[in-house]
Amino acid sequence: MKAVVYAGYGADPVLTQVADPDCPADGVVVAVGATGVCRSDWHAWKGHDPVTLPHIGGHEFAGVVVAAGPGVTGWHAGDRVTVPFACGCGGCEHCLDGDAQVCPRQTQPGFTGPGSFAELVAVRAADANLVALPADVDFVTAACLGCRFATAFRAVTAHGRVRPGDWLAVHGCGGVGLSAVMIGAALGARVLAVDVSAAALARARELGAEAVVDAAGPDPDLATAVGQLTGGGAHVSIDALGSPAVAAASVRCLRRRGRHVQVGLLPGGPVPLPMDLVIARELEIYGSHGMAARDYPAMMRLVADGTLRPGRLVGEVIGLGDVGRALAAMDGPAGAGMTVVRLAG
Ligand SMILES: [Zn+2]
Ligand SMILES: [Zn+2]
Repeated sequence: MKAVVYAGYGADPVLTQVADPDCPADGVVVAVGATGVCRSDWHAWKGHDPVTLPHIGGHEFAGVVVAAGPGVTGWHAGDRVTVPFACGCGGCEHCLDGDAQVCPRQTQPGFTGPGSFAELVAVRAADANLVALPADVDFVTAACLGCRFATAFRAVTAHGRVRPGDWLAVHGCGGVGLSAVMIGAALGARVLAVDVSAAALARARELGAEAVVDAAGPDPDLATAVGQLTGGGAHVSIDALGSPAVAAASVRCLRRRGRHVQVGLLPGGPVPLPMDLVIARELEIYGSHGMAARDYPAMMRLVADGTLRPGRLVGEVIGLGDVGRALAAMDGPAGAGMTVVRLAG
């Protein structure tokens, strides 16, 4: 098969011919229809997130099952599918509770093994991890779902528990933040977007943000600005960027009994949060790490009926031969929207 391979961290990703993946006994091989290019792929390429070299990245994909192992009961060749970026083992207490997103034995195509910047990709524990794609959800749209969009969906719904009319503050309007803006607005929340980029804030408005705060502006007191715009603070606030300052600001932006959800990764280690406010205002603090396959149907229904339109988040659709260029472009600031590689229909 053809795949994009890099031999070392930072080395040029090259489109080349490699052996097809073996089908795991409990898994499937998927012919990739489309696959997103995510900043997590860039982190792996740069060596921030160790992988086995040479490596094939790519973890946000959708496609068609072409082979299923003897232990797979629910899936067959020809099924249109996608998967969460974190695939559970299927057998531990967390997976059996439906929380594969925190499985301690999880596998992640594109990180723990070869990924989807390839014509074929293997997925372990297929019965626990595959998600059926409705016929009217195309591969490019579905490739947006597995990582950033699903993480945002879980943050807004399961952790944030936003209700119509609630104020949802979204700090950081990259792929995951704009997903949260779209999801919050579609569910009836009043969305306030925060970013340092005027272009990102304009995009957030297009996707449903009612108010925006330019964090690069002259007033650095975000909590006061958010408090004034929302009449007392956000009911739910998401750090979709991942920085100690943003995480703390997100907590300060909450009204009493509000909920902070940490979505942006914090690779630098422990982060100080204003725990005095957490107790005085009875705030809730959550982390969100993707979403298990079990929880996809509720999101997929909203995608299939057009309530959620993740395809609007796609900026550029490229070919497999352009993956290296797309990864290199992430050395700079994020472009407008998600980049998706299309291999088939
Ligand atoms: Zn991703
Ligand atoms: Zn497990």
